[in-house]
Amino acid sequence: MTPKFPVTTPSLHSALKTSVAQYFDQGELKSRGNGQLYAKAIIILTGMIALYVHLIFFTPAWYFALPECVFLGLFITATGFNVMHDGSHGSFSTRTWINTLAGATLECLGGSAYIWKVKHCILHHTFTNVEGVDDDINIGYLMRVNAHQRKLKMHRFQHLYCWFLYMMVYFVWVFQVDYQRYFTGRVGPVPMPRMSPVEHLKFWTGKLVNATLFLVLPISRIGAAHALIGLAITMATAGIALTIVFQLAHTVEHTDFPLPDTDQNQLPDEFAIHQIATTANFATQSRIVTWLVGGLNFQIEHHLFPKVAHVHYPEISRIVRRICQERNIPYVEHTTVRKAVGAHLRHLQTMGRA
Ligand SMILES: [Zn+2]
Repeated sequence: MTPKFPVTTPSLHSALKTSVAQYFDQGELKSRGNGQLYAKAIIILTGMIALYVHLIFFTPAWYFALPECVFLGLFITATGFNVMHDGSHGSFSTRTWINTLAGATLECLGGSAYIWKVKHCILHHTFTNVEGVDDDINIGYLMRVNAHQRKLKMHRFQHLYCWFLYMMVYFVWVFQVDYQRYFTGRVGPVPMPRMSPVEHLKFWTGKLVNATLFLVLPISRIGAAHALIGLAITMATAGIALTIVFQLAHTVEHTDFPLPDTDQNQLPDEFAIHQIATTANFATQSRIVTWLVGGLNFQIEHHLFPKVAHVHYPEISRIVRRICQERNIPYVEHTTVRKAVGAHLRHLQTMGRA
């Protein structure tokens, strides 16, 4: 059973929603994607496809191929952050089919869009940092990311070996965990809604397309050894990039890991306060970081307004900060990526020793 949130009236969430709706009304703006987002999507998708085609069909010398694999990994992650992620939340466009198409880029990149929706859009976005429900903080015995998880001796070194695990995240997701979730029908301990025959077909079509693009074609064009080395570099780069962005948003110093009470299975705070307490922003003044990570550095705003396209988060954050300040609600932000990485590693150190 997933936990409940207490109902408070008037809730912070409704106050935030009213102010943000006013912002869109006054500026006569659409809350979904705009020209700026579509131009960015075209640049990123073109870059990713161009790198892939050059690597597979033009067989560059190794000293070009290696950095190109690193860049392909970064472009894959950027596609995830800027196209797939907004599509999966329905914020890329006002048209459902465009959102589905944007979300389906994940199928080509190896993950099931259906399972992602359950894991990310429902469980992670609702029960953020709740042990046993939010699968993002379920790393098994390998790491201890909150005080409710069992501590093992090896966790003392987790701030050092985490980088190796982050490199492996994308491999494990595509080649193991997705299948595990598919066959058990669960994301962690939480059962997924039953998949329709069409969803089953999409799952297997996606896996087939991904295997063709990332294994069959490369191996047939450039040989197994080169193809597998290239794939390893690409996936390790993408793994680190995508994990670090999500870790900097939730598993850093000063974010909470609340538990529901045992009597009523109810969390301590209403939904919006829970989201703000379990989430942190980082490097919001950096336009480059904001552009690259698809506004996920404004993670507080993303958790409060997941159906708003990320290009609006910088403006919305002004409203959220003001209301938090007025109500004395702590709003966690690390001003640079370096400081946020430091806060993540110190959090891991504390969890490994405590
Ligand atoms: Zn999200």
